[in-house]
Amino acid sequence: MRAEAAEWFTANWDPSLPLGAWWMLLARSGWGFPTWPAEWFGRGLAPNLLPAVVAARREVGAVGPPAGIAQNLAGPTLVAHGTHDQKQRFLPGIVGGEIWCQLFSEPGAGSDLAAAQTSAVLDGDEWVVNGQKVWTSGAQIARYGILVARTDPSLPKHQGLSYFVIEMDQPGIEVRPIREMTGRAIFNEVFFTDARVPADNRVGGLGEGWAVALTTLANERTMLSAGSFGSSGSAAGIRSIDLEAPASDALRATEPEGAGSGSGAGDLVLGLATEFDRRQDPIARQEIARIHTLLEIARYTDLRVRAAVEAGARPGPEVSVGKLAASHLLRTMRETMFRLCGPYATLWGPDAPRGGRVHEVGFSSYLISIGGGTDQIQRNIIGERVLGLPREPRADKDVPFADLRVGTQRSQA
Ligand SMILES: Cc1cc2nc3c(=O)[nH]c(=O)nc-3n(C[C@H](O)[C@H](O)[C@H](O)COP(=O)(O)OP(=O)(O)OC[C@H]3O[C@@H](n4cnc5c(N)ncnc54)[C@H](O)[C@@H]3O)c2cc1C
Repeated sequence: MRAEAAEWFTANWDPSLPLGAWWMLLARSGWGFPTWPAEWFGRGLAPNLLPAVVAARREVGAVGPPAGIAQNLAGPTLVAHGTHDQKQRFLPGIVGGEIWCQLFSEPGAGSDLAAAQTSAVLDGDEWVVNGQKVWTSGAQIARYGILVARTDPSLPKHQGLSYFVIEMDQPGIEVRPIREMTGRAIFNEVFFTDARVPADNRVGGLGEGWAVALTTLANERTMLSAGSFGSSGSAAGIRSIDLEAPASDALRATEPEGAGSGSGAGDLVLGLATEFDRRQDPIARQEIARIHTLLEIARYTDLRVRAAVEAGARPGPEVSVGKLAASHLLRTMRETMFRLCGPYATLWGPDAPRGGRVHEVGFSSYLISIGGGTDQIQRNIIGERVLGLPREPRADKDVPFADLRVGTQRSQA
């Protein structure tokens, strides 16, 4: 299979092709999303074969498929739960590099996502959406969002939710950027005021949004797990992309050194040890060896999860282990990188080590310990669903959502 993939990449990779054309070629061949079904841009490959495809592609030096929220979260969710018509309408754009966002978290519903309050009410053949989302990465440039909204507040919180694909460019949606400590504004607040969703954009049954969202969340944990470092093709999800630019330019832009790829993460730290003459320093050596070990453990965990999935298990609670490993790895990297830089770590902007790249990786290290479910939530999942420990008390599980004191309902008399 690896030889077959290598043969295809050798025959077809052309750095002068426009990025959009390359991505479509890749998608049509099935080598871009090989774990998807053959009729939907894939080859139906078992997930544990994916690393071999990635290795074959890298040997040739070819740009990987687009890899953001659209491709890693929305695509697999539509493949699993979408209707034939939805797959036909949305998957071609997704594999071609479209940018989507994830409209899940709200001011009153993050870890407890089932407490989402944003409402969707049917009006003829459209749903009318009102409410607010927060921390929505890429909302300012996304074409579509995957939305969890409450369609029946009289039901208990997990039962009254539905899942939609919503077009972002419409008068009922206002996106306000939130500035991060990196200086960038990747995520946003999103306000809905009578925003519209066609009825046939509901994914899964009415009131079955929670089950559909669980598929998205399991894929998100896999995307953010340490073992996945380096297995995705590019980090194209958050930036606007010039689909007309030569694909070779995209290679530099989408596979930067640093936390985005496994060997890149190790290389960045090793490079800093050389630059700041710390390769003989016993403490630095110990830390670098620790990072290498964590990366190897993460890779092994990831392979085990992929093997379990191949044997028929759902990508469920086990992926939380990989996500926790990623969180630990990034924190260790941050501390080690800043220690290696010594006093230079206090510089900012272009004077800072690697033109600010070290700070960007370091200041972004919080991302994985919060986004996609916090470390504490991953430990709850491992405790309850992997180890079978007693569940947390859930007093609100059978109470109609309208009677719960959550979100803005908290302040009502
Ligand atoms: C960089 C980044 C990008 C993000 N992008 C998106 C996005 O694109 N779309 C989106 O929908 N969301 C996004 N998020 C939001 C993210 O999913 C939430 O921040 C996360 O789920 C936590 O929710 P919260 O912030 O409301 O914290 P809370 O749920 O309020 O948690 C606060 C603290 O309480 C702890 N806690 C809560 N409940 C429990 C419990 N039961 N047991 C133990 N501890 C608990 C948490 O671990 C945390 O430490 C992003 C977040 C970050 C940091």
